[in-house]
Amino acid sequence: MSKPRVAIIGLGIMGSGMAGRLLSANFPLSVYNRNRDKSAPFSSAGATAAVSPREAAVKADIVISMVADDVASRSVWLGENGALAGVSRGAVLIECSTLTVGWIKELAAAAAQRGCELLDAPVTGTKPHAASGELSFLIGGSEAALATAQPVLSVLGREFIHLGPTGSGALMKLVNNFMCGVQAASLAEAEYMIGAGGLDLEKALAILTRGAPGSGLVQRAAARAFANDFTPNFPLHLMAKDLGYAIGEASHLGRSLQTATSALAIFKDAIAKGYGDQDFSAVIKSQQRG
Ligand code: NAP
Repeated sequence: MSKPRVAIIGLGIMGSGMAGRLLSANFPLSVYNRNRDKSAPFSSAGATAAVSPREAAVKADIVISMVADDVASRSVWLGENGALAGVSRGAVLIECSTLTVGWIKELAAAAAQRGCELLDAPVTGTKPHAASGELSFLIGGSEAALATAQPVLSVLGREFIHLGPTGSGALMKLVNNFMCGVQAASLAEAEYMIGAGGLDLEKALAILTRGAPGSGLVQRAAARAFANDFTPNFPLHLMAKDLGYAIGEASHLGRSLQTATSALAIFKDAIAKGYGDQDFSAVIKSQQRG
């Protein structure tokens, strides 16, 4: 059987790794990115570089979006020359960006009007996992659409967790990232205390990362901060976006997220200090003394 034709919209840190995987696995691929320069390496490697999301989607059996936020997603699906204007009936649409549940439901309804099913399939894992096909997908939508998408998803990830109907994947991803953001913010405050109190940083980090607070996220963020390497795997401003979305989602569910609200204030302060485009672990540097 011939491979499904795939479109990837969004060639940022994550989308570029995913597109590279699909090309390596010889899927017929069309790509679109707002800044068209980012398409060039993929067209050189055999992909078709589209001038609009609509053009990218026209011949695709599976259309994947991996863009920054709700605004970007709305623009690439529903904007002028958006992908929904180009999709064929029966194509499966996969929104992998971290977005709000409300927008995902609106998008799924718009997709249904075009005769297409939408999967919300945000991911855990970061730049290296996208490049090596080791993402974990948190999926909302129908079993049937997931079965259709599986041959493509299996090149991109190693774990596929079907959480329920449309919006379930989006909600789970926001729960996941709000806890990540809170942990990173707490590590930033911890490192302030360590520095201001005159403790040895290496010894203190060993205690924290090997002990009870040492989650995978805390371990990775502490290592990046200790190495003073804030090259973005996951840009800090996107973590702030996720904290804001989680706060909004919890509010719809009748709860004010106290820890996320505090963490978001710390991330906003980091953005105000100019760290927004660095890795999220730069939140630690942003909170250090003077
Ligand atoms: P990124 O490198 O900043 O890339 C963002 C992408 O969105 C770029 O292709 C960008 O296009 C596009 N974009 C932004 N605003 C747009 C708009 N208004 N209209 C059209 N396109 C727009 O981000 P990323 O790290 O790949 O993240 C992509 C998504 O995955 C986000 O939702 C993020 O929260 C989520 N995520 C990221 C990670 C990670 O570790 N990086 C992990 C899990 C999930 P331009 O190139 O033209 O700016």
